[in-house]
Amino acid sequence: MDGSERIDIGGVSVPCGHLIGGRRVGSPDGYEVITPIDGSPLGHIPAGGPAEAAAAVAAATATFPAWAALGPDGRGEILDRFADAIGERMADFQRVDTHDHGALAAGRPHHGMPRTAWNVKFFSDRARGLHHDTIDGDVVDNSVRYDPSGVSALIVPWNAPLMLGTWKIGPALAAGNTVVVKPPEFAPFSLSLLGEVAQEAGLPDGVLNVLHGTGASAGDALVRDPRVSRISFTGSPATARVIGAAAAANLTPVSFELGGKSPFVICADADLASAARTVAVQFMNAGQVCLAGTRLLVEESIVDELLPLVLAAVDELVVGDPRRPETRVGPLIHPSHFAKVQGLVERAVADGARVLCGGGPHPDGGLYFQPTILADVDQRSEIVQTEVFGPVLTLQTWRTEDELISLANDTIYGLAATLFSGDADRAERISSQLVAGTVWVNCFYVRDLAAPFGGSRASGIGREGGTWSFDFFCDVKNIATRRGTFAS
Ligand code: NAD
Repeated sequence: MDGSERIDIGGVSVPCGHLIGGRRVGSPDGYEVITPIDGSPLGHIPAGGPAEAAAAVAAATATFPAWAALGPDGRGEILDRFADAIGERMADFQRVDTHDHGALAAGRPHHGMPRTAWNVKFFSDRARGLHHDTIDGDVVDNSVRYDPSGVSALIVPWNAPLMLGTWKIGPALAAGNTVVVKPPEFAPFSLSLLGEVAQEAGLPDGVLNVLHGTGASAGDALVRDPRVSRISFTGSPATARVIGAAAAANLTPVSFELGGKSPFVICADADLASAARTVAVQFMNAGQVCLAGTRLLVEESIVDELLPLVLAAVDELVVGDPRRPETRVGPLIHPSHFAKVQGLVERAVADGARVLCGGGPHPDGGLYFQPTILADVDQRSEIVQTEVFGPVLTLQTWRTEDELISLANDTIYGLAATLFSGDADRAERISSQLVAGTVWVNCFYVRDLAAPFGGSRASGIGREGGTWSFDFFCDVKNIATRRGTFAS
């Protein structure tokens, strides 16, 4: 592949090459990407390796001084145009997302500006106010600066590449860093298109580079490059361990957003109808959502009342082609992932789990799996302890809050938790004891970009969002000036 290739995805023309220093570049080899809609080939992407990774980092390194020198206001003008351009192309991005990872055509939440564009605009605005922190000490005046740190390597998974990619690209660029982003191999096209939209919006060449390829080749070479000053990774804990080891050689700071096995707690005093509807929401993106509350922990006294409401809400979910407006549960990403999900469910059932709904592949075939809820599961079992990353929930009950807390916190993860209760004191008491980066109370999936986001334990290192993103991407510097040494 020479890098100039384009493919048509649902009527949108998408560039396939790497974007390095403003030019589309190829690789000697490429690989085929399929669409999970029907498993058919979507197109080819160049399989980048050490040479392309080195070239992308070189381009980002060369452009860094000029980009950093623009300052937050200069960069902000360009980034605002970039955010607007993303917003204008949202329908195109949506079509690409639907084909390359099965995102619902009808499903993307909009909070005013589409979230992908808002990821850029929010941090561009925030960066403009960053350089003014002062702390008056006894002897000195402290002036805190957020200096750009250099080249950021950004690595994202396939379940929401554009949203998760811009969640890193936005703050990294606003901070004054230049970027090499590596799209996921199963779903590389929306970030490939994003590179072109950035160019059209006037982002200088080399500020945003897109490096395609597998994690083991392109990704590995990128994170090992000593010129990289920050690594921000979203994906599985297993990959994070490999990246962490590579980063250790250069003492490169890492930010990790990893997997989850989050509890969804329903108390007897909750609004059960609302809780049941929110349980059904856990099947969005076919359950391929890190934050999903996959372990239903229901107060025993209301389980018989709640269960019919939950099953009715799940029954309404239409499974099928994500292009259809009525669809609520689309496909799993790839045959290999489908086999993993199916294997976990089959082993759980063989171990004695009771199928409350679903339980296997959808009768229409393809990569579609039925929304599944399993009861009679042991806390130590594989299905309770392992992230399935598919449309599969387990149901357990509890009698006392102590029992609840011990069940809820008994996995290696700590990404999120969802809690439904009608009692504010109880909600506060339980929330404060849950190990989780985010606890949603009587809601789910609401994300304020100013709030910290991340996971505890095996769910991550560090927090993104608000100032936390800048704390990571910047070299935070304190200038401590002795009082009275300058004429005022
Ligand atoms: P993954 O870890 O297999 O891959 C993620 C990315 O890392 C891909 O782009 C891949 O190419 C790259 N990669 C793989 N090996 C690499 C290496 N050695 N060096 C550098 N890069 C490498 O994860 P996945 O299967 O794509 O995504 C699913 C996982 O992501 C789940 O565990 C899910 O919970 C997690 N996730 C977490 C969040 C969050 O915000 N916490 C969000 C979405 C997904």
